[in-house]
Amino acid sequence: MPLYIEDRLRWIREMRQKSPCKRCGLLYNHHVKAKCPDCGTLDSHELRELLAQKEVIVADLRRMGFIFAALALAAMLLFWLFAI
Ligand SMILES: [Zn+2]
Repeated sequence: MPLYIEDRLRWIREMRQKSPCKRCGLLYNHHVKAKCPDCGTLDSHELRELLAQKEVIVADLRRMGFIFAALALAAMLLFWLFAI
């Protein structure tokens, strides 16, 4: 089996074992680590900063998704206009 497929299958297996942290919402394997590696050592102030960073990243990804969807729609519209 090619290395790419093995890596992909290993990644899928690892992702299935992960579940969201009750404190920060990020994914980690509860069977391997007792504490969340992202927020387990943070106090409440640091946790707020982590959650604020997470919100900024989610907002950026949402904005990028909107831009790519708009570009795809514009390309489809142009293709449709010039194909006729
Ligand atoms: Zn956490």
